[in-house]
Amino acid sequence: MSLPVIITEEQVAARIKPAAIDAVIENMFAAMASGQARNFPVIREQIGQPAPIFGFKSGFDSAGPILGLKAGGYWPGNAARGLTNHQSTVILFEPGSGQLRALVAGNRLTALRTAAAAAVSVRHLARDDAATLSIVGAGAQAPFQIRAVVAQRGFDRLVIANRTKSRAEALAAELADLGIEISIGSAEEAARAADVLITITSSFEAQVEAEWIRRGTHIACMGTDTRGKREVADDLITAAQLFTDEVAQAISIGECQHAFGAGLIEEKDIVALGDVILKRHGGRASADSITLFDGTGVGLQDLFAADYALSLIGGGSD
Ligand code: NAD
Repeated sequence: MSLPVIITEEQVAARIKPAAIDAVIENMFAAMASGQARNFPVIREQIGQPAPIFGFKSGFDSAGPILGLKAGGYWPGNAARGLTNHQSTVILFEPGSGQLRALVAGNRLTALRTAAAAAVSVRHLARDDAATLSIVGAGAQAPFQIRAVVAQRGFDRLVIANRTKSRAEALAAELADLGIEISIGSAEEAARAADVLITITSSFEAQVEAEWIRRGTHIACMGTDTRGKREVADDLITAAQLFTDEVAQAISIGECQHAFGAGLIEEKDIVALGDVILKRHGGRASADSITLFDGTGVGLQDLFAADYALSLIGGGSD
């Protein structure tokens, strides 16, 4: 193939199967835990009002080898203009020379790799008999999250909560092909019903209280990826067995940042999901445990997903 390769959103949509990204992301978590791959410090800056955020996530995998970064961010006014709020592009380099390998459209890839992280957490941490999936948040990420997670267990019911009911209704209609019972409720109703709960909002205040969560529930907190954001209450963080993609991000930009900042938890209380995948940690302690995955979103997710896209599409045949 001639370099650099450009891979478009349309190519990603046409060619990449979500289940394949799940496997890529599972391998990536294992590569992080083994020390083979590492993320570099994240840069995230507010660039104006109403609060667009722009930044870089980057990293290196010595085995791939894969080197690169994702540039992009979150523009909350985009949806009103018919655009996706998240906009990003992944840039891959030749690790041996620094030459540009590829520019890979990152919007759909971000949704796929984020959903894959939640799905891998469910695969390794949710109870086998989980039957009700609930989600708080019905934005652009939500359908990807639900489709990826539904594939992990025999769910027969989905409860959707969103601050705008019409968007929850639209999401329910969009997911009718799943063939499971779908209802719409408040965040409390969704949380109380859940065997697995996904939170994927842009909230800066807790949406979910500890007393709403039944023993044995698995929670994937996927929305908090920036300092100040929050989706669940601190007493839920302290009640749960905590897992994350990367501990350094969990305590600085992830859901654990608030409890960590308040001195309620320490770094050693949070387990990297890669350690569970590598069987260095036993994962869920009992059927009664509440497990919580703090999915902060690491650069290596983007790089592994983009490298996979390049391997699949990079020949330029389509
Ligand atoms: P979106 O703009 O399409 O949807 C935002 C969602 O958050 C909607 O459901 C909205 O109702 C809800 N929301 C916003 N403010 C809220 C508030 N104050 N209270 C309650 N609900 C609120 O965004 P999206 O693309 O679906 O992304 C959702 C969140 O996930 C964002 O915060 C984004 O930064 C984050 N995200 C994280 C990762 C990761 O890897 N962890 C990856 C992608 C997106």
